[in-house]
Amino acid sequence: MDMPVKTTESLDLFVNATQQFERALTWVDGIKEGIIDFLINPKRTIHVRFPVNMDDGSTRTFHGFRVMHSDVRGPGKGGIRYHPSVTEAEVTALAAFMTWKTAVVNIPYGGGKGGIVCDPKQLSRRELRHITRRFVAELGDNIGPHTDIPAPDVYTNAQTMAWIYDTYDRMHPGGNNLAVVTGKPLEMGGSLGRDEATARGSWYATEQLLRRKGVPGLETLEGARVAVQGYGNAGSIAAYLFHDAGAVVVAVSDSRGGIADDDGLDPRDVLKFKQDTGSVVGFPGAKKIRNEDVLAYDCDVLIPAALECSITTANARKVKAKLIVEDANGPITAAADEILRQNGVVVLPDILANAGGVVVSYFEWVQNLENQQWSLERVESLLNEKMCRAVDETVDRFDELKAKYRQGFNKGKPGPTLRDAALVSAITRIATVVLQRDIWP
Ligand code: NAD
Repeated sequence: MDMPVKTTESLDLFVNATQQFERALTWVDGIKEGIIDFLINPKRTIHVRFPVNMDDGSTRTFHGFRVMHSDVRGPGKGGIRYHPSVTEAEVTALAAFMTWKTAVVNIPYGGGKGGIVCDPKQLSRRELRHITRRFVAELGDNIGPHTDIPAPDVYTNAQTMAWIYDTYDRMHPGGNNLAVVTGKPLEMGGSLGRDEATARGSWYATEQLLRRKGVPGLETLEGARVAVQGYGNAGSIAAYLFHDAGAVVVAVSDSRGGIADDDGLDPRDVLKFKQDTGSVVGFPGAKKIRNEDVLAYDCDVLIPAALECSITTANARKVKAKLIVEDANGPITAAADEILRQNGVVVLPDILANAGGVVVSYFEWVQNLENQQWSLERVESLLNEKMCRAVDETVDRFDELKAKYRQGFNKGKPGPTLRDAALVSAITRIATVVLQRDIWP
């Protein structure tokens, strides 16, 4: 029998990552006990503190860190977040997601993530430049094209990446250093298609999941009702790509609130309105709804594209969607995930759904190493191929786990999910390489 279980809920992202990992581990045979700790915890965490002269003549000390979760399958890879409340636990969890994500889509990276505790909205461009350059100088050779490769994350952008490249290049003159960081401006080695990559990858993955009949009661995006939480890079682009594929975008939100229209919103008009006014709220002709109403909106597909831990035990039972596509990292707590499973809601997990961003970062890195610039058509076609293959492998693995379960494996425990399947593939891929490389010395 398919057992309901109670998972203790935490809003700490690393606790959630650990709970997901431990649950997936129950489906994996033959991993040596002694390497489990190595697979879940980060390989290293570097803390740096450095002073910066501010515009008003004062001096402030900033705290930054870089977590390399794993470099088993290749160099560390992951964004750098600038946020006043960024914590080591949050960055560690995001670094772990990167390790699993790069394994699920099978690109030759490990996982990393970084952060600086600061409020970019209160800092001038000069202050941000000095903070970024000093951070890179402090990290020294702990980042590099073949060691650990940063990228943008919350409140960092192509300009931040340009400063990272320039600083690293000044510290290592005479070589091709473009591959030290991805998400750079197009003019200095950025890849075509990087802006849309996360949302585009999630759309390709959704289409493939539907082709594989992975969502009971939902055959196609044509006419499907879609709600999107968060209208930034990932959310707004997902909204117009799903719309272009024939879906009807019925509700969207940002940090100031939500809007809905059962006849369908035009996502590009909403984006233009947000760019002009700062929010989706007030969009002409749409009704205003609360933020939480978007998650509970009557729809077929829900795309959380904003914050971690948005869907919890407090609201998971209200979700009406048949499918949740996790464009955000960690938007569903492990306890809420189990409620959704019991209610038959399919979750296309973050480590697969939003992997398009790191896949195109990988394409940027390859182009930099080869001094090439690929066409947009080539980037999009290779992204589609990578995402479809990863979905196929995950669905095949899911079918395998379901068959094992029917035969009595994991008796008394909850049945498998797509997240379990994706994590089992990731863990197996990483553990295999650990054993092939063999434990040094
Ligand atoms: P972003 O800053 O561009 O957008 C975030 C959006 O969320 C903004 O519109 C903001 O107003 C909204 N928001 C904040 N609080 C909200 C709330 N309480 N309710 C509703 N909306 C709220 O960020 P992004 O790059 O789009 O990233 C969003 C998520 O996607 C994050 O979890 C990020 O880690 C994940 N992600 C992004 C990428 C990428 O390439 N951009 C790649 C992988 C994962």
